[in-house]
Amino acid sequence: MKKTKALVLLSGGLDSILAVKILEAQGVKIKGLGFKSYFFNEKLAKKAAKELNIPIKIIDLSKEHLNLVKKPKYGYGKGMNPCIDCHILMLKKAKNIMLKEKFDLVATGEVLGERPMSQNLKSLKLIEKKSGLKGYLLRPLSAKLLEPTIPEKKGLIERKKLLDISGRSRKRQLKLAKKFKIKSYPSPAGGCLLTDLEFSKKLKDLFEKYPRCQGNDIELLKLGRHFWQDKVKIIVGRNEEENKKIRKLAKRADVLIEMENYPGPLTLVRSYSKRKVPSRILEKARFLTKYYSTKSRQKKDIKFKILSG
Ligand code: SF4
Repeated sequence: MKKTKALVLLSGGLDSILAVKILEAQGVKIKGLGFKSYFFNEKLAKKAAKELNIPIKIIDLSKEHLNLVKKPKYGYGKGMNPCIDCHILMLKKAKNIMLKEKFDLVATGEVLGERPMSQNLKSLKLIEKKSGLKGYLLRPLSAKLLEPTIPEKKGLIERKKLLDISGRSRKRQLKLAKKFKIKSYPSPAGGCLLTDLEFSKKLKDLFEKYPRCQGNDIELLKLGRHFWQDKVKIIVGRNEEENKKIRKLAKRADVLIEMENYPGPLTLVRSYSKRKVPSRILEKARFLTKYYSTKSRQKKDIKFKILSG
């Protein structure tokens, strides 16, 4: 008999690993699907796929995802995380692959009630409908609490072997991890970088001041200390590694400042308007470069090197 084929969204977290295990236990053939963007990467998904010994496809969502983060239809969570829109986007990609590669269904590790924004009953239904996967989206961990999917109705999936987990407690998942002898999985995190409130604040500022920002601007947000002066951003590296990364991300129009005769930060000055960076802002950038170097803070003989990016 032909094996049922499922495409499973694999983040690399325990819930998605369990979704794979639950389906494998009833003989389903699995392929993993992972994603990367400016705000999350694919490393854990790849690691999990390797340990589960299943093939995985990774899709780079960076540009599309950034557009969605700028204007989410269904709003943000506590940070700048547009979880409902993000799930819909991922599942739309999954649907295309399902049709192209003839999978019987798409599955996720979502658990009813586990996350307030995207995993309440209303959101789960909305996500299923808007992704175009109505009837073909299986959530094995909570399936018995949800309407049967078409593959269940057709007998391609045994509903009685699916689970009825709900809520934020991780007890049942941890028991299952033991049962399936899953030793390595990350501790449950709150989500991607967009759920980090500090980062979200910086991102919101950037969107307000420069709505057309792109990947390079987002990568810079992950580095250094940030200071806005009107429409100019000053970014001061916090260590050697950050200095190197900032240097790599610098564009031709940026100004780079460092001290010639003392070790310390590399500072990048980027204008988000058409105007040249005014000298008072360059003065401020020099001050910050000196201030954040413990070796030079009190010195009077500092020489600055000013370069373009
Ligand atoms: S936490 Fe981040 S990656 Fe996860 S659904 Fe929300 S926006 Fe998407």
